[in-house]
Amino acid sequence: MKCYDSRILLDYFNVASDKEANSDKLAIISRTNHNISRKSISESALKVLYRLSNSGFRACLVGGGVRDLLLGLQPKDFDVATDATPEELRSLFRNSRIIGRRFRLVHIRFGREIIEVATFRSHSSDSPKTELNTEGRILRDNTFGDIEDDAIRRDFTVNALYYDIANFSILDYTNGLEDIETRTLRLIGDAETRYQEDPVRMLRAIRFAAKLDFEIERHSAEAIFACGSLLADIPPARLFDETVKLFHSGNATRVLELLRHYHLLQYLFPALDELLGLEPDEAMLDFVDQGLVNTDIRINNNQHVSPAFMFAILLWPAVHQQAMNLQSSKLKIIPALFQAGSSVMSRQLKHISIPRRFSQMTRDIWTAQPKFQRTQGKQPARLFAQPCFRAAYDFMCIQSMVSLVPGNLCQWWTEYQQQHQAPTNTKLQQRDNGNYRRRRRRNAG
Ligand code: ATP
Ligand code: MG
Repeated sequence: MKCYDSRILLDYFNVASDKEANSDKLAIISRTNHNISRKSISESALKVLYRLSNSGFRACLVGGGVRDLLLGLQPKDFDVATDATPEELRSLFRNSRIIGRRFRLVHIRFGREIIEVATFRSHSSDSPKTELNTEGRILRDNTFGDIEDDAIRRDFTVNALYYDIANFSILDYTNGLEDIETRTLRLIGDAETRYQEDPVRMLRAIRFAAKLDFEIERHSAEAIFACGSLLADIPPARLFDETVKLFHSGNATRVLELLRHYHLLQYLFPALDELLGLEPDEAMLDFVDQGLVNTDIRINNNQHVSPAFMFAILLWPAVHQQAMNLQSSKLKIIPALFQAGSSVMSRQLKHISIPRRFSQMTRDIWTAQPKFQRTQGKQPARLFAQPCFRAAYDFMCIQSMVSLVPGNLCQWWTEYQQQHQAPTNTKLQQRDNGNYRRRRRRNAG
């Protein structure tokens, strides 16, 4: 079974040049002919590569690390591929553990850095070790193979380049280097089959296209229209991870544009998708845009960003609209926001399972908003002491930037913070300290 046919939509977007899906020729690019130097590879990744190689195994850097280095970017992390099995890896590295059920991987920890090591795998649908569901989705795949098998079971050609520690050459089994040069994101193999095996690859396509400013190749792009609905069956916990990666990729505004373009927003944020499909409120559109621009700036400046803030921004148009309706039926603003927030959040959780610590913070950010208007008496101090204050303040300032709240409110609170020390011992901390002391006494007894 293939995803449904929607080729008619093809004319709507620019397509990259077409070409045969894969070349079966291996291209080897020797050290003198590429720009990857060991100096730009993390020490921990090099340690892993050398120990494997010295123990007689093949060891290569693969994936985003190689792709980003070739593009002159700083990789987010380094992934290693090898012919050592997970058990062999476990005995070679004391600081390692096996993770994953769908794909068994080994994580090797060096302080805060984790090097992910995967054994070369093949992808064969008739292997007893590859489990597919009725839609052709891979549930589990732990069939080991050689490096070439490993290359063609990867998602995009630019993610299937290997840096071989044995001689520092680059191995290209899928014409990935040419796609790096032309900045093209191309699935390896038949696009619809590859999205069926794992629909999350559609979200990865959007993430890499936005983050790297690549164009999605014609077949890989067209198949997203046909296969998008398969995302409805992805477990909400996996969609949480992918959604955070999408909107924290450093180009969240482009991500939102692409999600809308490919009709995928409905599977992640149905309430936002519906609102944007209607006659959208311009101020709300500006707000979402501004919120994403701010997130991008923070990411690109290596500042902290929380998933709670991202969900607060993307769900706010729906919460705001529902709260307005509730207010007109005589509810006060804070209870109206509370009720609207609960209802929007519980619908959202059916699609993306947001861990409670984030969903609670998201709701706190929303209900804190009217409290910023209260600048008299003890009210400001009370708001300032709330754990969500900083995120709620940033959120309010974004509202003020698009004139949803008075511009001088952000200014007032900026000055308030300059004049007051951030509270160090909030009620929450006191309670946590109390719990901790009680637990310690219990354990000691
Ligand atoms: P980044 O780490 O910058 O987000 P990445 O390409 O390294 O990008 P990872 O999620 O770290 O992405 O995955 C490492 C590699 O594993 C990918 O480059 C790709 O080769 C392979 N891979 C990851 N997810 C999939 C998938 N769903 N299907 C096929 N191959 C995948
Ligand atoms: Mg990676």
